Amino acid sequence: MTEANIKEKFNDLLLMMQANGYEDLDILKLAFEYAAEAHEGQTRLSGEPYISHPLAVAYRLAEMKLDMNTIVAGLLHDIPEDTQLTLKDIEQNFGSDVAILVEGITKLGAIKYRGVDRYAENLRKMFVAMSNDIRVILIKFADRLHNLSTLDALPNDKQLRIARESLEIYAPIAHRLSIGKIKSELEDLSFKYVYPDEYQWINKIMPKEYEAKGKFLEKIMQSVSNKLLENNISVGSITIQGRTKHLYSLFTKLQRPEVNMDISKIYDLLALRIIVKDVGNCYTTLGIIHNLYKPVPGKIKDYIAQPKPNGYQSLHTTVFAEEGNIVEFQIRTNQMHEEAEYGIAAHWNYKEGANNKLNSQNLKWIDELIKWQKQITDNEQFLKTLKFDIFQNQIFVFTPKGDVIELPEQATPIDFAYHVHSSLGDKCVGAKINGQMVNLGHNLKSGDIVEIITDKNRKSPNSDWLEIAKTSMAKGKIRTAINKNKKSPLS
Ligand code: MN
Repeated sequence: MTEANIKEKFNDLLLMMQANGYEDLDILKLAFEYAAEAHEGQTRLSGEPYISHPLAVAYRLAEMKLDMNTIVAGLLHDIPEDTQLTLKDIEQNFGSDVAILVEGITKLGAIKYRGVDRYAENLRKMFVAMSNDIRVILIKFADRLHNLSTLDALPNDKQLRIARESLEIYAPIAHRLSIGKIKSELEDLSFKYVYPDEYQWINKIMPKEYEAKGKFLEKIMQSVSNKLLENNISVGSITIQGRTKHLYSLFTKLQRPEVNMDISKIYDLLALRIIVKDVGNCYTTLGIIHNLYKPVPGKIKDYIAQPKPNGYQSLHTTVFAEEGNIVEFQIRTNQMHEEAEYGIAAHWNYKEGANNKLNSQNLKWIDELIKWQKQITDNEQFLKTLKFDIFQNQIFVFTPKGDVIELPEQATPIDFAYHVHSSLGDKCVGAKINGQMVNLGHNLKSGDIVEIITDKNRKSPNSDWLEIAKTSMAKGKIRTAINKNKKSPLS
């Protein structure tokens, strides 16, 4: 990046913030000059002027439509660590909200992936920072994405450390916050450093697979487009969604036992995504597609009427197209699309200012995590629990009333009961899944309707439930109930 490129990029940033609804951009100009001066004379390992980095970070945050203070903090984020200026200076010039964000980033900067103990400790710090202000982690994501994209300038061991940390810490957190776009970018940028051989292999086999399937999909796209036009559906866009850009997610799919590294067994390698103007048009579009092609039974998912707990909405269907091809469609409105790409960031309302506390339903898990992480002092145990409760794939099950409950894979009715309410867990004597009695150790699957059978005279849980329950939340509540019962003089 030359001096002129930097000026141009900053200009783009100003324009974008204007488009995001900000009229007064003085503070942004001030922050840019302040950062440029503070980093004056410093270069990145790539040889570029240092300011190109905070500028790229701020730009990315503006793309995510975050509030002005977050963008300003993005520009200033490396100042306390890498320059003569301090947090105090930042606070005096830009106020305490910006200073708190920069402080959070500076603290996270000290986090490095080195062995189990450091790893666990760092994760703890990270979650605390997130619970104080979720914007800190969003700035960190932007910072990390830019660092990953310029990783080639670094020595090998550093490349590997940063890439692995991104894959094992940052990407799962982005996933948990349902920021799909950032999660896959983090993964794909890290993939080639962490698994170089596999990366090359996938890169080699991909083009052939895509070419054939892509050509076919273009035909389908044309026929669907025409039909939608005939039916007066105003289509925002129809695009072929590939895993071309999601190599890592393809890699994890290939590793599934039923796929066994055979790429021809991945049916959703490519999908067609249709964005229409409103919900009514989503359903009409679904009907038009089913009129053209027969749907594959059991593959129609209505995430509009029944959104995933992280808020994801869309209609999905898989159909039998010509020549024995199976094609997946995703149908959504533009708003649903933005939320799918940017997760919690899409809900940001900059006009309400520092709306940064954990008030959203989607972020409750961070609060819970903070609570139980204090109880687990053993780092190895902490990581094990964390892997299960947070980073494990989630399933979605239903209460008999149709409320969605999110649990990790392999969770049991006991976990479900305690997740709904402690008293439901304590008084649980049995469970029905989709109307059938099952034992309490049964593994729940996505889509199950779970009914807990209770006995109001029951006083406390069985101690062997500690073996059956999988989530730390349920285990914690079982322990509490058992202890309380022991102490009670009446029992
Ligand atoms: Mn940085």
